[in-house]
Amino acid sequence: MSLSEDLRLPVGCPSCGSQLMRVSSIKKPDDRVHCASCQRFVCLYHDACKVLKKGPGSESEALIEKAFNRGG
Ligand SMILES: [Zn+2]
Repeated sequence: MSLSEDLRLPVGCPSCGSQLMRVSSIKKPDDRVHCASCQRFVCLYHDACKVLKKGPGSESEALIEKAFNRGG
Protein backbone atom coordinates (compact mmCIF):
# COMPACT_ATOMS: atom_id res chain seq x y z
CA MET A 1 0.00 0.00 0.00
CA SER A 2 1.44 3.31 -0.98
CA LEU A 3 -1.37 5.84 -0.93
CA SER A 4 0.06 9.29 -1.30
CA GLU A 5 -1.16 12.85 -1.22
CA ASP A 6 -0.01 16.05 -2.86
CA LEU A 7 1.67 18.60 -0.65
CA ARG A 8 2.56 22.11 -1.79
CA LEU A 9 5.58 23.62 -0.06
CA PRO A 10 6.39 27.35 0.10
CA VAL A 11 9.87 26.61 -1.28
CA GLY A 12 10.77 24.52 -4.30
CA CYS A 13 12.59 21.23 -4.77
CA PRO A 14 16.37 21.88 -4.75
CA SER A 15 16.70 19.68 -7.82
CA CYS A 16 14.02 21.00 -10.18
CA GLY A 17 12.32 23.92 -8.39
CA SER A 18 8.83 22.38 -8.30
CA GLN A 19 6.85 23.16 -5.14
CA LEU A 20 4.54 20.18 -5.52
CA MET A 21 5.53 17.24 -3.32
CA ARG A 22 4.17 13.81 -2.56
CA VAL A 23 3.81 12.36 0.91
CA SER A 24 2.19 9.18 2.16
CA SER A 25 -1.36 9.74 3.37
CA ILE A 26 -0.41 8.40 6.80
CA LYS A 27 1.89 11.40 7.37
CA LYS A 28 4.14 10.12 10.09
CA PRO A 29 6.84 12.63 11.11
CA ASP A 30 9.55 10.48 9.54
CA ASP A 31 7.69 9.79 6.29
CA ARG A 32 9.70 10.73 3.23
CA VAL A 33 8.50 13.60 1.10
CA HIS A 34 9.34 13.28 -2.59
CA CYS A 35 9.16 15.81 -5.37
CA ALA A 36 6.09 15.13 -7.52
CA SER A 37 7.95 16.30 -10.60
CA CYS A 38 11.45 14.73 -10.49
CA GLN A 39 10.62 12.04 -7.87
CA ARG A 40 13.68 12.83 -5.78
CA PHE A 41 13.67 12.68 -1.99
CA VAL A 42 13.29 16.23 -0.69
CA CYS A 43 12.75 16.06 3.08
CA LEU A 44 10.96 14.23 5.86
CA TYR A 45 7.38 15.08 6.73
CA HIS A 46 8.34 16.83 9.99
CA ASP A 47 10.74 19.02 7.98
CA ALA A 48 7.91 19.83 5.58
CA CYS A 49 5.68 20.81 8.53
CA LYS A 50 8.34 23.23 9.80
CA VAL A 51 8.63 24.78 6.35
CA LEU A 52 4.85 25.10 6.03
CA LYS A 53 4.78 26.95 9.37
CA LYS A 54 7.69 29.25 8.49
CA GLY A 55 6.45 30.05 5.01
CA PRO A 56 8.65 31.14 2.12
CA GLY A 57 12.08 32.61 2.85
CA SER A 58 15.75 31.82 3.30
CA GLU A 59 15.21 29.85 6.52
CA SER A 60 12.83 27.47 4.78
CA GLU A 61 15.14 27.18 1.78
CA ALA A 62 18.06 26.32 4.06
CA LEU A 63 16.02 23.72 5.90
CA ILE A 64 14.94 22.00 2.68
CA GLU A 65 18.45 22.21 1.25
CA LYS A 66 19.85 20.55 4.37
CA ALA A 67 17.28 17.76 4.33
CA PHE A 68 17.76 17.26 0.58
CA ASN A 69 21.53 16.94 0.95
CA ARG A 70 21.09 14.47 3.79
CA GLY A 71 19.40 12.31 1.18
CA GLY A 72 16.93 10.60 3.51
ZN1 LIG B 1 12.11 18.04 -8.10
